[in-house]
Amino acid sequence: MAADGATPITVAWGDGIGPEIMGATLSVLEAAGARIRPEFIEVGEKVYRRGITSGIEPGAWASLRRTGVFLKAPITTPQGKGVKSLNVTIRKTLSLFANVRPVVTYDPFVPSGHPGVDLVIVRENEEDLYAGIEHRQTPEVSQCLKLVSEPGCARIVRYAFDLARAQGRKRVTCMTKDNIMKVTDGQFHRAFDRIKAGYPELETDHAIIDIGAGRMAASPGRFDVVVTGNLYGDILSDIAAEISGSVGLCPSANIGEHCAMFEAIHGSAPDIAGQGVANPSGLLLAAVMMLRHIGQADVADRVHDAWLKTLEDGLHTADLARAGVTATVCDTQTFTQAIIARLGERPSQLWRRGGGGQVAIAPAPRAPRPRKAMVGVDVFLDWDEGDRDAEVLGRRLAQCGAPGLALQMITNRGVLVWPNGHPETFRTDHWRCRFHAPADQAIDHGDLLALLERVRAHGFDFIKIETLCTFDGQPGYSLGQGQ
Ligand code: NAD
Repeated sequence: MAADGATPITVAWGDGIGPEIMGATLSVLEAAGARIRPEFIEVGEKVYRRGITSGIEPGAWASLRRTGVFLKAPITTPQGKGVKSLNVTIRKTLSLFANVRPVVTYDPFVPSGHPGVDLVIVRENEEDLYAGIEHRQTPEVSQCLKLVSEPGCARIVRYAFDLARAQGRKRVTCMTKDNIMKVTDGQFHRAFDRIKAGYPELETDHAIIDIGAGRMAASPGRFDVVVTGNLYGDILSDIAAEISGSVGLCPSANIGEHCAMFEAIHGSAPDIAGQGVANPSGLLLAAVMMLRHIGQADVADRVHDAWLKTLEDGLHTADLARAGVTATVCDTQTFTQAIIARLGERPSQLWRRGGGGQVAIAPAPRAPRPRKAMVGVDVFLDWDEGDRDAEVLGRRLAQCGAPGLALQMITNRGVLVWPNGHPETFRTDHWRCRFHAPADQAIDHGDLLALLERVRAHGFDFIKIETLCTFDGQPGYSLGQGQ
């Protein structure tokens, strides 16, 4: 906090409709008495055009580190190679591990087909398939690594429960696909089951992501807080946003231990930029989240109430305009002035969630390291011989094994093809060959190197290995499908 009692925040005007909706948002905050001191930085199109592929000036990081609070208007991401997504860069650089997206419907003032929705999606923001580690391993097969960490799971799940508690919510739902991904998604689900014990006042449940997403589309009113991984959360939050009635209504926060970024979920809307008709609500509600985050819940409530009252009075931007509920279609400026004129008023029908909303963020927890033992190895081969007959491969590869590290199975795209494969199974040029020690006896890296040397000597092209380990005696690897 600065000497004048104001909280310094970093602000970016953005591209397209960005400056219009940021101007609107800042004037409402000022009129509402927000105790903030903005520092302006440049991000987006102009920065990209200067050849800075990250879209953010190197000097801007100093402001973000100083303030730890970033209110950002949408930017235009240039098409083409070599340009990095600014959002991903900021999220990862500043470890903004939690993506928080509330979705609310405002029937009857913004008809939605799903009255009474008031949910929040808490999406893990740093891990999963978004690590961006991809390889083409054979002429036919590519892979993308799905990385999930114990502290990453524990941190996001704990944040979801703390948010539920801070906002007086009743239920937390976890969504994973751990019926298929038992190790990675299983880790997320197990963290959920462990952590929920500390929040006995909250109801909890778990849904497999496919049926969970279906239910989100069909009956979103049944959800309260949803916590999920990065990719599922990305998809789920867009499904949920569709429900609200306009993309212009939804805010989001990206929360980290040292910094937080607040923005609308929509983009820079180049099709309506410069016309003065954009709906500033998504960014304004993001600013409301920001005010709660910096401990100004009183101002947040004033702004939120005035905005709800404006909707109730039928003053709507063009994207919200509906026959029968809209009294006046407003441009951005008129809508903003209508909100300012209602500061201090309360809505009569629409309801907003109370509560301080501040969630304390603990450092990522670190569990004691378990006892680790290597008991085998998966050797991946690029093999395109013998009509891709797994029996031929199995016979030749078995000769590479040793009494303490024998060939146990071969799979192709995860399906068991040796021993006792099925002739119908399609086979690519990518083979996972598992060598395992008998009775989980521990092997060492010397055993691995000797095995790989024999595999090489038999003329095989190995493309990678994955060691098979137990942790406190529990296997840390999956079985082959059909094993
Ligand atoms: P968009 O969200 O900008 O626009 C989609 C549609 O919604 C358009 O018809 C637009 O007019 C309308 N719309 C969006 N916001 C509105 C608002 N506040 N009021 C009224 N109507 C609104 O999505 P897009 O067209 O796919 O993307 C445009 C640019 O924005 C792209 O360069 C994209 O990369 C970028 N983008 C940036 C962010 C961000 O900075 N966080 C997020 C998404 C997209």
